[in-house]
Amino acid sequence: MRAGYPNSDWQNNEQVLHFKIAPYFWQKTSFKLFILIAVLFTAYIIYKYRLYHYKRIEIELTEKVEQQMHELKTQADAFAHLANHDQLTQLPNRRAFDSWLANNFNQFQDEDKALSIAIMDIDHFKQINDDFSHLIGDKVICEIARLLQMNFPDEGYAARWGGEEFTLLFPHKNAEQAALLCENIRLQIADYDFADIATGLCVTVSFGVADNSKVTDYDRLLSNADNALYSAKNSGRNRVFMHNKGCMTPS
Ligand code: GH3
Ligand code: MG
Ligand code: MG
Repeated sequence: MRAGYPNSDWQNNEQVLHFKIAPYFWQKTSFKLFILIAVLFTAYIIYKYRLYHYKRIEIELTEKVEQQMHELKTQADAFAHLANHDQLTQLPNRRAFDSWLANNFNQFQDEDKALSIAIMDIDHFKQINDDFSHLIGDKVICEIARLLQMNFPDEGYAARWGGEEFTLLFPHKNAEQAALLCENIRLQIADYDFADIATGLCVTVSFGVADNSKVTDYDRLLSNADNALYSAKNSGRNRVFMHNKGCMTPS
């Protein structure tokens, strides 16, 4: 320090004065360190939050995709069921039966295994429709389908062929064995009381049975069964007829 008057020289004697200027708090290293840590911590929290947010979005999207996949699968199953089942009876339909036969016929032939087919047809069904009603006719078809399934061997395959006709497949059974099983179904239907559907209603069915011996294609197997059914109808109905082997039902 030196003293001086205005408009004159500084005096020579000088004094040294020591003093310290305290820094503001924001100038302190500890504060800067604190700020740095706070910034890093905030950045870490933001990062963690974003990560959690994206994880949640990922979980939500995964759940949505899984739900939609499940819905699509349910829909596809429903379509497949519709395509292969008859709506009235819920039995497999003609398409399903044809595809089963087409896929298995050659294998049974190649391995020389017995395979039989039967066509079952409700007798005088048109008369049932005329006498009772189309609605009663539908109920009869459903009841016949139920009785058929109840009395059908586990190994076999039954389908609604169309109208009042059903096709039955008996793997590992020759015509006689299949005809015996058909005879049992025929008896169950003939003895069944249809009074719950309509009073005075009597329903019988006829069968045509054929097996795969001496047959080279499944169309021929079907037409043999159809011919046998024709014979069953012509010889009085309510009976089981085998292709080239006559009637199974005792007269
Ligand atoms: P048959 O003993 O010779 O078999 O005589 P049918 O009267 O049973 O045979 P036909 O072929 O003359 O008549 C079959 C009838 O079945 C004609 C058709 O109107 C009826 N029908 C076909 N599909 C259905 C159906 O889904 N519901 C009802 N209620 N009737 C049907
Ligand atoms: Mg018919
Ligand atoms: Mg008929």
